[in-house]
Amino acid sequence: MAEIATIHLDGDVAVVTLDAPPVNAMTRELRAGLKAAFESLRARSDHRAVVLICAGRTFLSGGDMREFDTGVQEPGYHELLRLLEDTPVLVVAAIHGSAMGGGVETAIACHYRVALDSARLGLPEITLGIIPGAGGTQRMPRLIGLEPALDMMLGGKPLTAAQAKALGLVDELVSGELLPGALAFARGLIARGAGPRRTRELPVAGAERADEVIAARRAQAARTMRNRTTPGMLLDAVAAAVERPFDDGIRYERELSLVAEKSVEGRALRHLFFAERELRRIPGIGPEVRGRPVAAAGIVGAGTMGGGIAMCFANAGIPVTIVDTTQEALDRGFATIRKNYERSVQRGSLRPELMAQRLALIRGSLAYADLGEADVIVEAVFENLALKKQIFARLDEVAKPGAVLGTNTSTLDIDEIAAVTRRPQAVLGLHFFSPANVMQLLEIVRASATAPEVLVTALDLAKTIRKTGVVARVCYGFIGNRMMDPYGREAERCVLEGATPAEVDGALEDFGMAMGILAVYDLAGVDIGYLTRKERAHLLPDDPSFYRPTALLTERGWLGQKTGRGYYRYDSPERKRTPDPEAIAMFRAEAERLGVPQRRPAPQEIVERCLYALINEGARILEEGIALRASDIDTVYCAGYGFPRYRGGPMFYADTVGLDVILERIQAFQRELDPQYWQPSALLLQLAREGRSFAQWQAAQPR
Ligand code: NAD
Repeated sequence: MAEIATIHLDGDVAVVTLDAPPVNAMTRELRAGLKAAFESLRARSDHRAVVLICAGRTFLSGGDMREFDTGVQEPGYHELLRLLEDTPVLVVAAIHGSAMGGGVETAIACHYRVALDSARLGLPEITLGIIPGAGGTQRMPRLIGLEPALDMMLGGKPLTAAQAKALGLVDELVSGELLPGALAFARGLIARGAGPRRTRELPVAGAERADEVIAARRAQAARTMRNRTTPGMLLDAVAAAVERPFDDGIRYERELSLVAEKSVEGRALRHLFFAERELRRIPGIGPEVRGRPVAAAGIVGAGTMGGGIAMCFANAGIPVTIVDTTQEALDRGFATIRKNYERSVQRGSLRPELMAQRLALIRGSLAYADLGEADVIVEAVFENLALKKQIFARLDEVAKPGAVLGTNTSTLDIDEIAAVTRRPQAVLGLHFFSPANVMQLLEIVRASATAPEVLVTALDLAKTIRKTGVVARVCYGFIGNRMMDPYGREAERCVLEGATPAEVDGALEDFGMAMGILAVYDLAGVDIGYLTRKERAHLLPDDPSFYRPTALLTERGWLGQKTGRGYYRYDSPERKRTPDPEAIAMFRAEAERLGVPQRRPAPQEIVERCLYALINEGARILEEGIALRASDIDTVYCAGYGFPRYRGGPMFYADTVGLDVILERIQAFQRELDPQYWQPSALLLQLAREGRSFAQWQAAQPR
């Protein structure tokens, strides 16, 4: 094996090059190589400076995530970084690519930093539920000042090289070749007689206002990072950088970072990190199955979804043709697309010339024949089975051999749609969420005949258009919407039992959901659920109270935000939701008519009923093989349904509560509330009885 760390001499500068493909992660081996290199330099007197640089596409990209399970092996970070910092000659870090976490902590233990102007530097630990644990909380405030360091670590977003330069995190920017730039910088320092500049010896700028600043950040975090534990730990560690000598601060940082790692939040966020890396693994489909290239795309239907999906393709540089039935429909669709892009330009998130480029990639047509070049076609017409079947028969005529045929249906049977074609193996669901150009989630629905390479093409496509693609099997509502059904049922039932919409949504939002379900109904249109339930009435329980509040609102024409009122009123100038006493009175009167007892469930009961119903349905989905993994369900809910990431998704959350506890509550609801709806799933019963978790169940599945 090639050496990870090599040293060569360039005149009087020693260059230490680290090379651990693919991203120079700080594994035990890399740390050992780095340590050995700096130790050997100590014994030499042939250089007056050291440049630390990385080969490949990036500087040190961060710690080794696998070490969360094993604990950090020798050599540890502190010992190593202390060695670097104590180097008797000056040490310059030369940074390119993405320096993250431990990479940045290493760079700031060096005496100076130069960076390519395209580099990015970040301390994103908070997004993984941990805190910088290799001196970052102690050195960063000393290097760039208290408030900028807090911004960087609490925000977790990487800085551009220019921003890093402005903050003094980087001393010099280089364009073109990094190493010559770094060498020239080092020689400049030598010529000036500069020596080592140890970050740990610098005072913290802004320390005199530390109490006030840290208190303000605590208050802010309590508001904007509700329920989270890491921000408080991070602030404690930074306070120590101000109050304590460096070595004490380092010890405290290490203590806190171990607590954060083991915390529920830390485990939850790491779970999601690894869950997203599992998504592409489909049992029975090995790496020999390759996806097909997608150079051109087609869309049928220029409506809400079709337009948004077209933007996803254009944003990824893929030309796309949208077919609709009338010129008016196309014009309407294009006007919306243009408006969406213009809004991004106004907000400053899109450069005008990029908008023009993207618009130029989207073409409208009234002729299905124009879809003949497309490698992927996504159908997004009205939710009507007969119509979709007609369209797939047409697509079968015009699509080129090998084209992937996707439907964006939310509820229809994709096997039935595939059956009208002579190539059911080419058909699958590509379930985007609204607004399609914004929402992260893409459910990839594998029908019974879908070919493995078609599935892999869809997974690759998800990556190309920067979506989180999760594979599901065909059933009503797939993973996400199917689980939403019992969750919504309980929310509505709580309203009938006397909780106000604001109490129901407030309880769910306090738990951490991005938006309460009733407010979501108002946003999407209260009538949508009502109409689909009407169509499926023959399959649903014979229960006049089932989803009754939504039915009442729809019958009154109070359809949510689009009509100015639904579960709430939206008549303030900023269209904020406000309670609607009339709607509440209507729900009360209906409850009385139906004889629903007014129990007025408390917040904790509301949360338990909604979430345990959701989790129970998730367990059924696993039993039936609709989702491959419990962690896939977690990804669906965090990427598409506003479930709080710091709770790890519904199935991870269930494991943290304990499946036995959840089962007990479900059985209590079954006795006390409703025997029909509260049937525990067989998988939940089994796991609770065996004292196992969803994670353990998943680990025991064939891979
Ligand atoms: P929409 O009513 O906004 O648009 C449908 C478009 O299809 C219209 O432009 C219509 O002219 C066009 N169309 C109808 N018949 C056609 C034909 N024969 N050939 C070509 N075009 C035709 O509908 P939408 O909200 O964009 O929904 C489209 C699909 O996406 C539905 O299956 C829906 O269930 C699904 N979906 C919608 C959402 C959502 O939130 N709106 C979310 C996920 C999935």
